[in-house]
Amino acid sequence: MKKGVMRPGHVQIRVLDLDEALVHYRDLMGLIEVDRDSRGRVYLKGWTEVDRFSVVLREADQPGMDFMGFKVVSEAALEQLHGELIAFGCQVDQIPAGELEGCGRRIRFVAPTGHSFELFADKVQTGRYGVGNHNPEAWPRDLKGMKAERFDHCLLYGPELDKTLELFKEVLGFDLCEQVVTPDGKRVAQFLTCSMKAHDIAFIDHPEPNKFHHASFLLETWQDVLRAGDLISMTDTSIDIGPTRHGITHGQTIYFFDPSGNRNEVFCGGDYFYPDHEPITWDADMLGKAIFYHDRQLNERFLTALT
Ligand code: FE
Repeated sequence: MKKGVMRPGHVQIRVLDLDEALVHYRDLMGLIEVDRDSRGRVYLKGWTEVDRFSVVLREADQPGMDFMGFKVVSEAALEQLHGELIAFGCQVDQIPAGELEGCGRRIRFVAPTGHSFELFADKVQTGRYGVGNHNPEAWPRDLKGMKAERFDHCLLYGPELDKTLELFKEVLGFDLCEQVVTPDGKRVAQFLTCSMKAHDIAFIDHPEPNKFHHASFLLETWQDVLRAGDLISMTDTSIDIGPTRHGITHGQTIYFFDPSGNRNEVFCGGDYFYPDHEPITWDADMLGKAIFYHDRQLNERFLTALT
């Protein structure tokens, strides 16, 4: 049942060198740099996004994800969810408006997988970059690199998938779209949506909590995914795999790494979801095909290169 969580809103990523990271996220991936704050963080967005920012880069000694935020439909929904998170047993921290530039108050909690998530209801809306909301042209002509359209989802590694699914379903109103299950019935991967998308957040079972696998960004076409591969080679960027197709979600994808070792994905296409859809189930012995539909086997990096 929907609880008012609308969509992914932002992700804060730790990088070792901000200037190198900007060459990657801004010049290679094509995110738009929109702001910097007094703490030295840099704010970016995909050009189709209506809110002010979706990616925050923070310089730190270790790479990884600080938190992922979801936008909720209203202040009333935020208040309701706050109470339900506490009732579920989460410790909820309140972060005042303006701690992220242009973002209203946030509430933050830690999922059983160890990852920090936030909810917020308000963020300054600046509209689609370069085209606006009135008689918009097809796209802005000054986009760089891969021309990433929007921040789409994260894939995270950690323990306690069952409890995390309960939290996301029962408290936050997500649905389970797709899963990977072992012969003895243990769910080792879960792809969850709060929308019509194939996933807004996904988790893979892993003994160590709070590990970051990738942040993913939407491109328009398969040709754009191929072109992203060309740009990865042109810039001698570290590639993980692809271009290829995922079995899970059926998205068309390429994985690569930022200069700090954080994995990124750009992708296009993929399945859709309505609330009456039954979850799609993959057997764990089909995991290779489920992840990389063409190679039909996982590369070692997919399971071990985490930040
Ligand atoms: Fe992904």
